[in-house]
Amino acid sequence: MGKPNGFLQYRRKADTVRPIRKRIQDHQEIHVPLKEEDRRQQAARCMNCGVPYCQSAITLERMTTGCPLYNLIPEWNDAIYRGIDAHGLKRLLRMNPFPEFTGRVCPALCEKACINGIDGEPVTIQNNEFYLIEYGYANGLMEPQIPAVRSGKKVAVVGSGPSGLAAADRLNKRGHSVTVFERDREIGGLLMFGIPNMKLDKSIVLRRKKLMEEEGVEFKTDTAIGTDLSLEELKQEYDAVILACGAKKARIPDLEGIETTEGILQAVTFLRMFLDGSTVAEGKDVVILGGGDTGNDCLASCIRQKASSVTQIEMMPKPPEERQPNNPWPQWPKVLKTDYGQLEAIEYYGKDPRLFAKTITALHSEDGVLKEVEIADVTFENGSLQVSEQRETIPCSLLIIAAGFTGCETELPSSVGIALTPRNTIETKQGSYATNVEGIFTAGDMHRGQSLVVWAIREGMQCAKEADRWLMGYTNLL
Ligand SMILES: Cc1cc2nc3c(=O)[nH]c(=O)nc-3n(C[C@H](O)[C@H](O)[C@H](O)COP(=O)(O)OP(=O)(O)OC[C@H]3O[C@@H](n4cnc5c(N)ncnc54)[C@H](O)[C@@H]3O)c2cc1C
Ligand code: SF4
Repeated sequence: MGKPNGFLQYRRKADTVRPIRKRIQDHQEIHVPLKEEDRRQQAARCMNCGVPYCQSAITLERMTTGCPLYNLIPEWNDAIYRGIDAHGLKRLLRMNPFPEFTGRVCPALCEKACINGIDGEPVTIQNNEFYLIEYGYANGLMEPQIPAVRSGKKVAVVGSGPSGLAAADRLNKRGHSVTVFERDREIGGLLMFGIPNMKLDKSIVLRRKKLMEEEGVEFKTDTAIGTDLSLEELKQEYDAVILACGAKKARIPDLEGIETTEGILQAVTFLRMFLDGSTVAEGKDVVILGGGDTGNDCLASCIRQKASSVTQIEMMPKPPEERQPNNPWPQWPKVLKTDYGQLEAIEYYGKDPRLFAKTITALHSEDGVLKEVEIADVTFENGSLQVSEQRETIPCSLLIIAAGFTGCETELPSSVGIALTPRNTIETKQGSYATNVEGIFTAGDMHRGQSLVVWAIREGMQCAKEADRWLMGYTNLL
């Protein structure tokens, strides 16, 4: 254990962020690490609990709390406290292949389960993770791990998001020859073309790509499986195939004119346009349909594009500011989250952009161009949605749809007879990653539905383990 009374001696101090007025002038990461002395004190707050919930990924009331990667959190907190960072990094990498991604974008399921969180001040686990991995890169510790022996087996991974990368990493280190096929011009999936730079600078993804290439992973970008090469051909050429194509099919609300009116974009399209340099929101009255994380990323992007106004419409009622008695620790806290984009909007526009318990009921356009949206209050009665008869309109020259996703593109799996679930994800047996077609496996959002980077990584690792067992008759992967 680190410092026995560290949690009593030191208050939680999270990494800082750049001042809002400055950071909205650029697209760079907003995160600023603490000084080394502060970092070690923060690690000293870890109590090394006998049964650490932070690393246990338990599901309570249908929501997971604790790290899905079973990260060895108390061990590396202790290492930071003692100043043996290289050892801490080794223990971190044991369970998490890509801490540079989770250290930036994970919603820190671990911190929700930290015992110090009972009084609202969990250990800064995610910031500590970020510190260790960046220490590793800065000090030459992230050297290529090239397998000593190759198995002679060839594996194709389709899709280079976090799940495909995690599967490729594990299988390559096990000695298989791995080729990752990506239809986009660059690897990374939503890490590269969804999550904005403010949360994850793209150089971080490219840094990992370089390391993986040095380790022997081959990336083939601009190659769409199903178009440039069929899945059947891939199956013939490779000993195993892993499908990790994501689940980006957007949920489109049932509104008259939604497909034809000018001035409507899906969230991922909008975010990608921004990453490619577009400022389509400039001078516009923007309405974002969806109050979740994707909507928040769109909001922050609109502010950087100097939108005239931004309103975020959320169907669910406003959550309480603090945990309620029926939602005790260590359950996932169902409390109001005011994310970085919303904080920026409050400062930039002078008010919280969110309207809770509302939905859009109609689009008003002139000559096919969007001018206003009509909104109404909603309530849930016995689980069914009730829309109020009273309506109001708000100006809207750009509507961004961030209302969730409805599964994967089904053409590719269907081309070889892979079974799908009613949710348009790939069907497997419970706890398995093998599809009904021998030798084809699946992982990530394509398997579990739109989720989180940390789950995508976990799925990629578990899928690699199952594929390895299938290839070799046994596995020594974690
Ligand atoms: C806007 C946005 C912001 C998000 N922010 C966060 C966040 O802050 N934190 C968090 O934890 N999660 C976040 N998520 C969720 C997270 O990004 C996803 O859960 C995660 O990326 C899923 O990983 P994946 O590998 O399964 O799929 P993806 O990342 O979607 O990658 C799939 C890849 O497969 C490729 N592909 C698809 N079909 C083919 C084909 N036929 N041939 C070749 N390649 C193909 C795609 O081009 C893509 O590169 C966010 C999601 C969105 C949409
Ligand atoms: S991966 Fe996410 S949940 Fe796991 S330790 Fe890191 S921040 Fe916490």
